[in-house]
Amino acid sequence: MYDVIILGGGPAGLTVGLYTGRAKLKTVIFEANNIGGNAAWIDQLDNYPGFPQGISGPELMANFHQQAERFGVETRMEEIIKIETLPEGKKVTTNEGEYLARAVVITLGAKRRELQVPGEQEFKGSGVSYCATCDAAFFAECEVAIVGGGDSAVNEALFLSNIASRVYLIHRREGFRANQTAVDKMLANDKIELRLNKVVSRIEGDGIMKQVILQDVNTKSEEILEVEGLFVSVGLVAAAEFLEGVVDMEDGYIITDEDMRTSVEGIFAAGDIRVKRSRQVATAVGDGAQAGMAVTAYLKE
Ligand code: NAP
Repeated sequence: MYDVIILGGGPAGLTVGLYTGRAKLKTVIFEANNIGGNAAWIDQLDNYPGFPQGISGPELMANFHQQAERFGVETRMEEIIKIETLPEGKKVTTNEGEYLARAVVITLGAKRRELQVPGEQEFKGSGVSYCATCDAAFFAECEVAIVGGGDSAVNEALFLSNIASRVYLIHRREGFRANQTAVDKMLANDKIELRLNKVVSRIEGDGIMKQVILQDVNTKSEEILEVEGLFVSVGLVAAAEFLEGVVDMEDGYIITDEDMRTSVEGIFAAGDIRVKRSRQVATAVGDGAQAGMAVTAYLKE
């Protein structure tokens, strides 16, 4: 029996653990993939306060993890299958066992959205990638493309330009969602070539990906880009399918109040998985701190 089970080991979950660990609550974090979540794939974070020269995502997340562990938080690399409310507490079923807790905090974050165009599934892992920091090394001195106009796409285009010989950034309009500092850096980088007002209409190849077909959103004319890699960076979707029917949700994201309480007593949610405006490491940390304090108060009551 745990006091608190945290589902997801990204910035929000690690922060909840820091707070509940310091409150001496018996806490475990379940993480299916990698500690740090999506933040651990960010090459350089310049907007997380406290690091004047910026810090790499993996280093920051390793620090978060060590800090939570310092207060006795346990980590288990297991995949969550189910959450149930029983008279004796919340039961969490993973691929390895069943666990009980007095409270659960869901911090499962979000995963990369897919393009849903022909060829995407076929060439996943054979040219199509969703993580530039993980896969860029396979494309040293190659021509690659990246789709998207947010912080992820622009930062990853900059990162890829250090490794690939040319980077095409494909975006469906002319304005960017990414912060202006990163956009200016990208515009000044002569290894990055923009393809604006274009969408990917299909991905073609022969065993491995060979080319990406772009369509102009206005003229509908097509362009063939012969590239060896296509990085898809078109936003996030909540990673919460198994929570349908467990807590109230909206468009796949969990609805919470300001204390991160969900519609079910004893279940809290924090970070990218909840309905909210901004999804940044700093805002996930704020959510995590709030949830950590709220769950501590709830268990004391
Ligand atoms: P995002 O901000 O939601 O941007 C997604 C981009 O993909 C948008 O430009 C969108 O175009 C485009 N898009 C969406 N669906 C598309 C489709 N089907 N086809 C083509 N383009 C499509 O997502 P993100 O860049 O992954 O960032 C997610 C969150 O993490 C954001 O809050 C971001 O600020 C944060 N983040 C922060 C950092 C950092 O601060 N260091 C790094 C990475 C991410 P439109 O603009 O036309 O909608």
